[in-house]
Amino acid sequence: MPSPVASQQPAPRLPANAAAYDVAIIGAGVVGCAIARSLGIRGWKVIVIEKAEDILEGASKGNSALLHTGFDEPAGSMELKLIKVGCATYRRIHWRMNLPLVETAALVVAWDEEQLQKLDGIAAHADANGVSVSVIGQAALRRREPFLSHKALGAVDVPEEAIIDPWSAPLGYLRQAMMHGAELVTGTAVTGLSRQKDMWRVDTRRGQFAARLVVNAAGLFGDRIETLAGRLPGFTIKPRKGQFVVFDKPAHDLVNAIILRVPTERTKGVLLTRTVFGNLLLGPTAEDQDDRIHAACEEAVLRRIMAEGEAMLPALAGQTITATFAALRPATEHRDYVLKADAENGWLTVGGIRSTGLSASLGIGEWAAERCSIILGGARAAPLDDDLDWPRMPPISEALPRPYRQAGRSPIVCHCEWVTENEVSAALAGPAPAGTLGGLKRRTRIAMGRCQGFGCSGALARLAPHLVEAGKTDAAA
Ligand SMILES: Cc1cc2nc3c(=O)[nH]c(=O)nc-3n(C[C@H](O)[C@H](O)[C@H](O)COP(=O)(O)OP(=O)(O)OC[C@H]3O[C@@H](n4cnc5c(N)ncnc54)[C@H](O)[C@@H]3O)c2cc1C
Repeated sequence: MPSPVASQQPAPRLPANAAAYDVAIIGAGVVGCAIARSLGIRGWKVIVIEKAEDILEGASKGNSALLHTGFDEPAGSMELKLIKVGCATYRRIHWRMNLPLVETAALVVAWDEEQLQKLDGIAAHADANGVSVSVIGQAALRRREPFLSHKALGAVDVPEEAIIDPWSAPLGYLRQAMMHGAELVTGTAVTGLSRQKDMWRVDTRRGQFAARLVVNAAGLFGDRIETLAGRLPGFTIKPRKGQFVVFDKPAHDLVNAIILRVPTERTKGVLLTRTVFGNLLLGPTAEDQDDRIHAACEEAVLRRIMAEGEAMLPALAGQTITATFAALRPATEHRDYVLKADAENGWLTVGGIRSTGLSASLGIGEWAAERCSIILGGARAAPLDDDLDWPRMPPISEALPRPYRQAGRSPIVCHCEWVTENEVSAALAGPAPAGTLGGLKRRTRIAMGRCQGFGCSGALARLAPHLVEAGKTDAAA
């Protein structure tokens, strides 16, 4: 029997009547999606303009999926302030959207005497940042993490660090914005920006839009968008690559908490963490590069971090690998986020959201909403949670009951990740449907498991032929 979605065409990419908007948000990464939510629920007329064929195709495509507390962020930074707001907001709303929150805690582990001496300082800094932590000794650490190398000497315990689903969360923010009237256009690169009286004219590859306020949330291209609008960026994006190894599900239980290293100036270092999808993640690295699009994995680097991982967790040796991946952080020459509000010209810059954007995004959304009220006039408070419409996100993590467990479910089409046919069909329909093969994977986990799509390629070709074909073209380009 033919699938109900087999003949489905991609959804139209432009709204029927491309009218004037209060706010045009450039970029549908996690930051743009969260800003759309904060503005949409306050009743602003919002359009999100994304150049890729789906959301989350830039920096937000791959990260460690940690919900940071900000315990180690610089005191007084915007990053710390917005992580705290973002984290608290996620904790308050995640259950309404059916988004997971796995309370693993994090342990900042000392591996030598010098690092051991630093633990009290890390704890004092966390305390000053308003994050509750404690220092634990070797015996307590062994009880908490029995598989960790016996060279581990002690740790700072950060109980509120957690792991989340890095893809369903931003999609949920965007869907909530859309329930409150926001619009999304994908495959629509912004190519020109000009201010005419009190409006911005936004030229794109698919026509023009008009907006009273523009939010630049273009991530790895944030400085280019500033220049396109005739502005002095004040920052230069310097992509910083992070490479990861994903271990198979048998390795998941080898750690309980997120295992962090005592950080350096440059990076928080390679970490080990469970994922909400039931794997174990090792990474990320930190390498600067000029290329803003491609993030290649390098065998020598992956071997080095696997050796580091095995030194921390000897039982990692011999564990099989599901996948490797790399992603780019939109780093700049500045340590802090670049957040600027230009009231006179109706412009918000949200740049350089480098390493913590998943955690801070809901906080950044609130920052943008406050500036928007000031710039556009007529302060708009966020409605009470009970008065809002909430999307219920499909449960793709192992932390929530998955459809494959339910009686009367549709056939399983991905046997590594236990994805059912109806989940795939649903991801191809509705608001913000999957626009790329990667987007379909991020919405359902199809082809994300041990066989990396070998077993489900037939089902994918049947259910999403347009995405499979487009994926082949992309790969060939
Ligand atoms: C290796 C790594 C690990 C990380 N780990 C964590 C973590 O554990 N916890 C955490 O909180 N954060 C983490 N982060 C950080 C987080 O992923 C980023 O801060 C976040 O993804 C940045 O999102 P963004 O929306 O600013 O940028 P992006 O995701 O890059 O979004 C910008 C969007 O703008 C679009 N765009 C660009 N130019 C145009 C144009 N001309 N027209 C239209 N659209 C355009 C792009 O296509 C893109 O979709 C990590 C990041 C990396 C890379």
